[in-house]
Amino acid sequence: MTSQPRLSVVIPCYNEEENIDVLYNRLIPVLKKTGMDYEILFVDDGSRDNTFVLVESLNSKDFSVMGISLSRNFGHQVALSAGLHNACGELVITMDGDLQHPPELIPKLIAKYNSGAEIVNTRRMETADAGFVKRRTSRFFYRLVNHISKVHIEDGAADFRLMSRKAVDAYNAFTERDRFNRGLVAWMGFKQDVVDYSADRRNAGHTKYSFRRMIHFAIDGITSFSSRPLRMAAYAGVVVSLLGLLYALYAIIRHFCGATIQGWTSLLITVLLLGGVQLLSLGVIGEYIARIFNESKSRPLYFIKNKTADSSHE
Ligand code: UDP
Ligand code: MG
Repeated sequence: MTSQPRLSVVIPCYNEEENIDVLYNRLIPVLKKTGMDYEILFVDDGSRDNTFVLVESLNSKDFSVMGISLSRNFGHQVALSAGLHNACGELVITMDGDLQHPPELIPKLIAKYNSGAEIVNTRRMETADAGFVKRRTSRFFYRLVNHISKVHIEDGAADFRLMSRKAVDAYNAFTERDRFNRGLVAWMGFKQDVVDYSADRRNAGHTKYSFRRMIHFAIDGITSFSSRPLRMAAYAGVVVSLLGLLYALYAIIRHFCGATIQGWTSLLITVLLLGGVQLLSLGVIGEYIARIFNESKSRPLYFIKNKTADSSHE
């Protein structure tokens, strides 16, 4: 292997011990066929199983396999960033470690790169795995993000993409903590292209994105690219205040006409409505403040605990 591989494949893995070997065996023939020098970089995102042991054993047989192990679980998006920071290739492909992203698509990504794209995204047409609810919520989410923020993210965008060295260097200049990579990449510009694919079933294990994580991810996606929710909170305030004013006028007139209303229902409704809008707005503001707080600490994005033995570069 030369000191700088032409192609890097970055694979974030969290408790994927059952998938590492299967993925490796499927990747190798595809990578060999490209005729390029390659490295496969596994990012172990604080797995509690044998993921890194397996990566190390692959590395001892095949020096094109490398691994870094993060000091704890930092989440998929940060693990991806760690991979991009440490990949050396002129072309870098990121993909999941559960075989939902078919390695056989790699030549297509490279072909698009050869025809001039700096970033080649993929668009998932269908996921054998995803239930009705996940598909629907995912579609709704992309609509929402595209509607309220300035970046455009394809419906079904996944973190399976190819980036040129120029794009990776640009990406590595991001310093933010709450990362929503699909949005960041869309925001970066450059010449981008897209390849469609149908996602396979997860090879083994189960999804690491629980419902709670998905909600968190969605909020990250929205708040990192738009301050519109803040404006919407303000609009809601204006609308509710106007309604309140009208209602006050009405109540005063009724009072002077001698027909003061008994009023329990109307009071209750007003209080609940106002309380709801206020809490919601506070929550929205809180989300943004939490993000400011998070950024202002400027902690390192992750720590690397361990690396596999390295013959090729450094
Ligand atoms: N992943 C990770 N850290 C995490 C969660 C997930 O590195 O905290 C990896 C995981 O091992 C997989 C990829 O990110 O390779 C996508 O995760 P998953 O398959 O669970 O997500 P889904 O495909 O269900 O959306
Ligand atoms: Mg998956």
